[in-house]
Amino acid sequence: MKKYDVLIVGSGPIAITTSLLLAKNKVRVGLLIDDLKYFKNDVKQHGPARLFAIAQNSYEIFNQIGISEKIVENSQPINYIRVVDDNSYSKVDFLPQDIDLKNFGYLIDELVLLRFLYNKLNENLDKIDVLYSPSDIKIESEEFFTHIYCDKFTNMSKETEVLDHIYAPLVIGADGKYSTVRKLVGIDIKELDYCETAIVIDIRHTEWPHNGVAVEKFTPNGAFAILPKHELLGTMSSLVWIEKGKISKDDINFFDKSTLKNLILRKLNGYLGAIEIASNPLTYHLKLVQAKQRYKNRVVLIGDSAQAIHPIAGQGLNLGLRDMEGIIKIISFGMEIGLDIGSESLLQDYCRSRVLDVQKMIKGTTFLTKLFSNEILPIKIIRRTGLRGFNNLKWIKKITMKYASGL
Ligand SMILES: Cc1cc2nc3c(=O)[nH]c(=O)nc-3n(C[C@H](O)[C@H](O)[C@H](O)COP(=O)(O)OP(=O)(O)OC[C@H]3O[C@@H](n4cnc5c(N)ncnc54)[C@H](O)[C@@H]3O)c2cc1C
Repeated sequence: MKKYDVLIVGSGPIAITTSLLLAKNKVRVGLLIDDLKYFKNDVKQHGPARLFAIAQNSYEIFNQIGISEKIVENSQPINYIRVVDDNSYSKVDFLPQDIDLKNFGYLIDELVLLRFLYNKLNENLDKIDVLYSPSDIKIESEEFFTHIYCDKFTNMSKETEVLDHIYAPLVIGADGKYSTVRKLVGIDIKELDYCETAIVIDIRHTEWPHNGVAVEKFTPNGAFAILPKHELLGTMSSLVWIEKGKISKDDINFFDKSTLKNLILRKLNGYLGAIEIASNPLTYHLKLVQAKQRYKNRVVLIGDSAQAIHPIAGQGLNLGLRDMEGIIKIISFGMEIGLDIGSESLLQDYCRSRVLDVQKMIKGTTFLTKLFSNEILPIKIIRRTGLRGFNNLKWIKKITMKYASGL
């Protein structure tokens, strides 16, 4: 049995960043992970992976844990964003200089970001207990603590220590869209199936470089994003190709490479010139999953376990990092003046602080998917004239750019 100030459950970017920042604030943290491959650095570095657009605010968070320089060295700055309605060819251009920024943030490979985060975690094993268990956990809350039980937790920070029971006044669930913590504490979810699949695939284009330009095309079947990848010659891009329906990796692999290449070329419509497919595809079934409560019985949810949004604006991770900032603020405040950090009143404050941002993001992304995939004539006209008008309304564009950059 071992007691912590805070227990975090999750193995993704939100859980690791939260544990590093809390440990920096001298909070005794136990971090429960379900997989050792990243911890042991046992991951193919160039496997297929989605790119994360790291907004300015998130970059500053990563700066606090000392990985921002590595992010800059290993990612592609977004120099320019172009949004195109594929039907009417109306477009909106966003330039970072318009809001006094050098760029709109950085595009980094998910596996590369996880490598940097886990390397930092390994450097901080004297401050964070990394607990690993391959078997199921059980969660029970009582008046002052929440307890997590399991057959055997191995403390990876001191490998000789084996535990079966850990507890803390507050447990943070950061275990993703299909959160076990959320299920175990009995928090219900709201779901909205977009009936779409995102296909992520890398291409190489030696004819023309991408120049750091990110393009988002809206087609009747869904969005199609062309994201510039970090590479010396600027000749790799990652495509996020959204199609209606549920599509699996096997469905994509059913096409031979040249048919797949021709389908992609048709989507690119001449942009970037000749291409080669450079990775196996990844597929994500797109569904909004939102927890009906953000906390219950000394357990609080952050990141995708609280809300997994549509990737149309590349904002899920950025939003989750803002959840993390919200709960860290509450924990630091509570500990500083000796309050119970798992108390109802503090967790309510955390929830209140997140409502507006989360609702805006969910409504905004859902609105965008509906607006751009709708083929009803009046909506097509609104879309075309709207995009043209939007391109000329500098102040609205500035607000949008600042919001997306997390400023
Ligand atoms: C195609 C696509 C593109 C995207 N692009 C962007 C982008 O450009 N920018 C952006 O901001 N966001 C983007 N997102 C959203 C982003 O992927 C998520 O918001 C982000 O990964 C959430 O991080 P997380 O740590 O909360 O959850 P996850 O990344 O899902 O990590 C949760 C982790 O917890 C682990 N876990 C599960 N159960 C347990 C358990 N019992 N114990 C311990 N660990 C457990 C899981 O194995 C997983 O590793 C994109 C999403 C998609 C689908």
